Amino acid sequence: MSLMEIQNLTKEFTVRKSLTKGDIVKALDEVSLELREKELLGIVGASGSGKSTLARLMVLLYRPTSGKIIFNNEDVSHHKGQKLKMYRKNIQMVFQDPYASLDPFHNVEWHIKRPLLINHYKGNVSDRVQELLTQVKLDPPSQFLDKYPHQMSGGQRQRVYMARALATEPKVLIADEPVSMLDVSLRIEILELLLSLRENLGISIIYITHDLNTVSMITDRIYVLNKGKVVESGNTKQVIENPVDEYTRRLIKAAPDPYKKIEVD
Ligand code: ADP
Repeated sequence: MSLMEIQNLTKEFTVRKSLTKGDIVKALDEVSLELREKELLGIVGASGSGKSTLARLMVLLYRPTSGKIIFNNEDVSHHKGQKLKMYRKNIQMVFQDPYASLDPFHNVEWHIKRPLLINHYKGNVSDRVQELLTQVKLDPPSQFLDKYPHQMSGGQRQRVYMARALATEPKVLIADEPVSMLDVSLRIEILELLLSLRENLGISIIYITHDLNTVSMITDRIYVLNKGKVVESGNTKQVIENPVDEYTRRLIKAAPDPYKKIEVD
């Protein structure tokens, strides 16, 4: 079943600095896509193809120039106030560099408690913090509660950031290049974590990357973005084995070992 639908989404920016000041940049051009329940969906494209703009639109950090974002059969594109707050609980985002997003002066416990307190969590907050840390496999949680961002590895920081995103029990997690700053072995761990979150929590995950290798390891379907347009979409294996678009073929050539899907144990 469809959980989210992006319909003909276009986003234009007006250049504010530099020689091209005043020019219009079309970062997304009539993009349509569907996210199904419990799906691991990949969005792949080279740098500048519009991936981050799409992610920011989906969490309504940006507003569309035209087009619609439908979530649970409701047009959320222009939600404000309380409706926006409710929507944002359902759709959370994790970024490439968790270090930049974590507060260096606060420990793990503070980071996870914060969204719970802001959202007036009704249950036992300490128990919930432990549960969230266990969900992201920071186990045992007691070993991590007092740690500060600089005392953890990149992979652990990414897990803390994910635990924080999961605090509002979202239905969708958008992971924007979550592994591109990690070394190879840690990458696999985070990809496995995404698979296990889908499996254990039943959430849908949108995995955004420029890297066809990692996208092929975990996603069910992909959309290929080029210059703000969807140039190809479909079952990940089929697209990689039988690409119809020239740009997709080039991305595949650039990925040394595409399609080795990993499974949850
Ligand atoms: P990606 O995430 O695939 O690297 P982006 O979504 O960041 O791509 O960018 C898509 C295009 O939109 C690029 O040409 C980029 O320069 C432009 N762009 C993105 N954000 C802005 C902005 N705030 N102002 C002007 N242009 C932007």
